[in-house]
Amino acid sequence: MSLGDERLSTTDSKGNRIFLHPAEVKGFFRKYRTLTQAVLICLFLIVPWLKWDGTQLLLFDIAGRTFHILGFIFKAHDAPLIFLILAVGTIALAFVTAIWGRVWCGWACPQTVFIDAIYRRIEYWIQGDYLKRRKLAKQGWDQEKITKIGSTWIAYTIISMLIAHSFVAYFVGSERLIEMMQGSPRENWNAFLIVMSMTLVLLFDFGWFREQFCIIACPYGRIQSVLMDKKSVSVLYDMKRGEPRKSAGVSKEKQGDCVNCNRCVEVCPTGIDIRRGIQMECIGCTACIDACDDIMTKVKKPVGLIRYSSEYEMEKGISLPASKRLLRPRVLAYSAAIISASLLLLFLVGQREPVLVNVLKTKDAPYSKIDENGNSFILNHFKIHLHNQTNNIVRVEVQTQSNDLEFILPQNNILIESNQHTELHFFVRFSILLSKTQSGKFERDLKIKVKLPEKEYEVTKGLVLVGPI
Ligand code: SF4
Ligand code: SF4
Repeated sequence: MSLGDERLSTTDSKGNRIFLHPAEVKGFFRKYRTLTQAVLICLFLIVPWLKWDGTQLLLFDIAGRTFHILGFIFKAHDAPLIFLILAVGTIALAFVTAIWGRVWCGWACPQTVFIDAIYRRIEYWIQGDYLKRRKLAKQGWDQEKITKIGSTWIAYTIISMLIAHSFVAYFVGSERLIEMMQGSPRENWNAFLIVMSMTLVLLFDFGWFREQFCIIACPYGRIQSVLMDKKSVSVLYDMKRGEPRKSAGVSKEKQGDCVNCNRCVEVCPTGIDIRRGIQMECIGCTACIDACDDIMTKVKKPVGLIRYSSEYEMEKGISLPASKRLLRPRVLAYSAAIISASLLLLFLVGQREPVLVNVLKTKDAPYSKIDENGNSFILNHFKIHLHNQTNNIVRVEVQTQSNDLEFILPQNNILIESNQHTELHFFVRFSILLSKTQSGKFERDLKIKVKLPEKEYEVTKGLVLVGPI
């Protein structure tokens, strides 16, 4: 049985994968994509080394259940805030998709960026242009092929290790990563195995699997059609202008602008023919725009036979102003959701306390009685748990104001390191006479103040004193 013409572009009639060697392309979009990719790769490598207020700018310490994001420390109890950050990111992606289609895939997705900017470039430098690469792929395993393919995979491995190490720095911290790299793998067995596994995954994905991930595995690729509508911008072929394309059966007068050179297919990293209309495999990389513009310039026709446009504009033969692109129900709905979630996030972050304070009664007896100089006193024992949520050391004072109660805290003016917590025990002592009430039951509220003098912050906590009946 053989597969029909509607099969995947990277599959032959027997269902085997066709490994693509897309042609190199030059042009307006190629220039800006190269620039964007360089900036994104530099950011990926540099960010783990940047600090904000003394801590790593972005650090996702999963083992320590602590995330450092732009100077804020988020712990497990901040799950709602982390959820909101993820929600804003997800809705922002839906918003971008509704307006500009798969611009994320073509311009910013790590899969595209690393393959296009690094892995394919390595192939180009070692094996030559796409024609030489195709020839090399077909030839037998002679000396030349072994040397070139071997060198390519050695270069891939070095780059994959670099990416894996940089990625791990986001989770263990850049300084810790350097320490681990200087030690033996046996001292950091888990981290070593993670880096090695990740290197293998990157080698497999960026070196071999490539566009198959976008076509078969990427969940975003699957749902993007739901997020887009007829007014979303995509890379599109202008059928009205291009068809009927140049071919032996079409007279010169009837021919559209497409000269049927197949260059748009040659450069496509997913191997599709954009002239067949919008396809799920198109990652919006713009290579076919540059390729076709180059051909149009050579045959002295206007550029833009393949261009960024929407199905709606192509059908109507118009170009919508930016305002009409933006003023659409789904774009407005996504905007409202992003603004609401961002405002809620800002509000909640603004409300965060620099120090989390919990005052608890200890688990021993509810109170104890002591005799001193012929007088009897009642002691209530509490513990206070303080967690510094800031990036700096904080000094904490605990106070209470009461004329008839004695507050006994062995240590006040406590210093707590950033992202650390401490537990203190304190007692409240009062005369037994105070606890002798008419009802025979003693219970009294007491307020304590936890102050951070340097931050001009204070929080009041209530606790209940108990005494004998
Ligand atoms: S059809 Fe064009 S934009 Fe889409 S993936 Fe292929 S080359 Fe890139
Ligand atoms: S590159 Fe342009 S002219 Fe050539 S086949 Fe593609 S659409 Fe037609």
